[in-house]
This record gives sequence, C-alpha cells and structure tokens, in this order.
Amino acid sequence: MKKIAIYNTLTRSREEIVPESDQLVRIYSCGLTVYDFAHIGNLRKYVFDDLLRRTLLYFGYKVKQVMNITDVGHLTSDADEGEDKVEAGAKREKKSASELAEYYEKEFVKDLKSLNVLMPDLMPRATDHIKEQIELVKTLEKKDFTYKTSDGVYFDTSRLPDYGKLAKLKTEGQEEGKRVEKNPEKKNPTDFALWKFSPSGAKRQMEWESPWGVGFPGWHLECSAMSTKYLGQPFEIHTGGVDHISVHHTNEIAQSEAAAGKPLAKYWLHSDFLLQGGKKMAKSEGHFIRLQDIEKRGFEPLDFRMLCLGAHYRSKLDFSWEALRAARMRLVDLRREFTLFLDKDKEGGEEFYRGKLEKFENALTDDLNTPKALAVLSEAIASREEFGGKAKEDFAKKVDKILGLNLLQRETPPKDIIELVKKRKAARLERNFKESDRLRIEINKKGWEIDDLPSGGYALGKGLTKR
Ligand code: AMP
Ligand code: ZN
Repeated sequence: MKKIAIYNTLTRSREEIVPESDQLVRIYSCGLTVYDFAHIGNLRKYVFDDLLRRTLLYFGYKVKQVMNITDVGHLTSDADEGEDKVEAGAKREKKSASELAEYYEKEFVKDLKSLNVLMPDLMPRATDHIKEQIELVKTLEKKDFTYKTSDGVYFDTSRLPDYGKLAKLKTEGQEEGKRVEKNPEKKNPTDFALWKFSPSGAKRQMEWESPWGVGFPGWHLECSAMSTKYLGQPFEIHTGGVDHISVHHTNEIAQSEAAAGKPLAKYWLHSDFLLQGGKKMAKSEGHFIRLQDIEKRGFEPLDFRMLCLGAHYRSKLDFSWEALRAARMRLVDLRREFTLFLDKDKEGGEEFYRGKLEKFENALTDDLNTPKALAVLSEAIASREEFGGKAKEDFAKKVDKILGLNLLQRETPPKDIIELVKKRKAARLERNFKESDRLRIEINKKGWEIDDLPSGGYALGKGLTKR
C-alpha cells in the first residue's frame, strides 16, 4: 500500500500517515456552524476534506470520517463572549433555533453533494450530544482542571503544562484576542469556557440543565466529545481551517488530553483560506459568495471544485471570476479530451498512461499536491488525438476517483453546433478570421461558447464566458 505523506501542524513536519490498525484511517473534520449558508471559503475546506478522503480510499485505506454540525455554542467572538451565532440567526430570520439550524444544514449538504463531496460516515449535531459534553466537563472537574465564575465553568489552562503546543503559544503574557472583551474573572487569558450559564433575565432558546447551572456548552467541547465518542482516542486525522489552530483546536486538544491523559489525534491537517480581494472571505464581513451565486453566473459547481484543486490546500487561494473562468475552461478542455476523443480505433498508449498515472499518484502522495497532479493531466492530454481507446478511458476514470470532476461527463453539443464548429475550423485554416469570428458569435447566440486554447485545440462548452 502506498504511503501518503502529509504536513502535520502538530509537529510542523511532513509525516507519512500510519494508521493504528487495519489500515483504517479515522478522520474528524470540523464542520459548519449552521446559522447561515456556507460560503465558498467554507466550501474550499470541505473540498479539501473530500480530497483527503478520496486519496486515502484510492490507495486502498479504509476511512471512517465524522464531521460535526455546530448548532449551538459558537459565539460571535469565536471565543467566550458575544451572542450564540445560531440564536442570533434565529432572531434575524424569525425562526426557531432548531428550524434555522435544520434549514442551513440541509442547504450545506446540498452544496456538498453538488461539489461531488463524498458524504462523511457520520454528521453528528452538537445539540444531540449535550449529555456527552456534560460528562466530559465532569471528568475535567474531577481532575481539577476547572473553575467556576459568575458566567460559566472554565478550563484552567495553567494546569496543563503543554497547553498551546499546536499553535506554539506561550501561555505566560498571552494576550486575549483583540476582539474579545477581557473577562476579569478568568484566571489566565487563555482559559476558555466549557459550560456557559444562560444570562440571567434572558431566556435562551437552547439551554440545558447541568450540575453547574442551566446553560449551554462551550464551542470546543462538542468536537472533543463527539470525536472520541465515534472514533476513539487517539484517532488518526483531525482537520480544520488554519483559523482553528490557535483557539478551537488548541482548546479541543487541551480538554481531551487533560481528560483522557493521551493524545486526541495523531495528525493535524489545516487548509488555508479562500480570499476575495486579498481578504479572507467571512460571513461576518457580510458580503460573501455562495455556490448558488456561482451557478447564477452560468458556472457549474464543479468549476469551483476545479478552482480549489488548482491550488495546493496549504496555500491561499484568491478568488476572482476570471480565475473561476480559467478553471471552467480547464475542466471543459479535459472533459472534451476524455469524451470527444475516446475512439475505439485508437487503441494503445497503455505504457504512456501508466507512466502518467504513476506521476499523478506521486503528486498526491506528496502532501496532496493537486496542482502538480493537474499538471500531469495537462501533459497527458497534450498527446491528444494520438490515443483514444481503453487505456485513455481507464486513465480518466482512475484520476477522477480522486479529483471528482466528472471528467467523463459529456457535454454533448447538438448537431447544429458541431456543424458551426467545423465551419469555423475550416475558416481558421483558411485564415479567414472575419468569418471565424462571425461563426463564434453565432455559436454564442445558441448558448455555447468556444475558446481557443494555447495548446492549439479548443474548449467547447456552456457558461465559459458568462459572468
Ligand atoms: P465555521 O462555520 O465558521 O465553523 O467554519 C467552517 C469551516 O470553514 C472552518 O473549518 C473554517 O476554518 C473554514 N473557513 C472559514 N472561512 C474560510 C475561508 N475564507 N477560506 C477557507 N476556509 C474557511
Ligand atoms: Zn471542531
């Protein structure tokens, strides 16, 4: 079985994934807070999770993946102050908290499916695991890791010598985040809420009895409770966006390791941000792009998947419509290659594709290097029209197991479009560019677009030029 090397944030180094037993790789992926639609920044992270899962499956590993749904406890400050995002969303939309969460969870799953994301084995909700979360706090209390303030039960980070090891934080003199109001009752700035009390005088929609008082769990607690419930401790891989390193994952590690006296997970993988105009796309910024917005402009969801795969998961990805269009063209070009030029009379190329497949696989086992893998595909199709038989089809099927781009999906142009394309090709050969431009416009008017590629071929598809 091929070994897959990844970058482990915990050790700041490349490591090979070695499962504890049975080649079973257990993955916990931090999921969405369901108070609004997912934006394409969030979705980049889930495309990454899917890439990881598909790569492991491709190389013969078994995978058990759990992805939580955060429907309580995530506060607007991302720390212990502010409103509960789901309660605030419910007020905004005049729905109950559970209606709101249910709605956005469904929309999220729809988005994942349109992006060809293989569904995790389990998607547990925080509100369905209150009992487990309370148990975890009880364990921490018994081990003397907690203290009570007027607004909740807190984790005492000074009691854990290696607190902050993931983010390489230094506890002493650690500043609380700028957006976070100082809480004078906290013993250390890095201490965090395990359980928060419902504010006096105000009734929350979501609140539960606990040994400490009526309230709700701190955000990090759900991930510690649900990951170990379904995956054991330690499990292999924990994933999240890079924004989770310093607080959310740091605190998950602290409470789980304090409670069980052993590591939470072996490999910590973090995907970088999707930016817009140089800034992190964020719901709190108010303007964000959804998958639907992309579709409204004539793109298909998989164009966005292609855009994501074109960048390494550990680099920032600057979103623009031009970049999406380029991804669209790249995808249309590949599909055209793997469908229009599949021709049983052109058998052969077994060795050629074996070589390319090996290079493709090596790119993926090298920290999931998709830009390199896609470059191999471009190389492979540079030999276009030479081979068109089974070897080529098998190659496309294999690489698509990981890429999930529907490479063999045929965008069948109707006969009249094919006729126009042929005429245009002839006009270009005669260097009659006036005629070839006229034919391009005619093709456009019929809802199709044709783009000439630097390689000398063309991409024919829908939505190539729409904005
Ligand atoms: P949240 O709903 O805030 O819990 O975020 C869900 C996931 O999306 C988390 O793993 C975040 O790290 C990730 N995320 C949020 N914003 C972005 C962004 N602009 N680019 C990439 N990932 C993001
Ligand atoms: Zn989490």
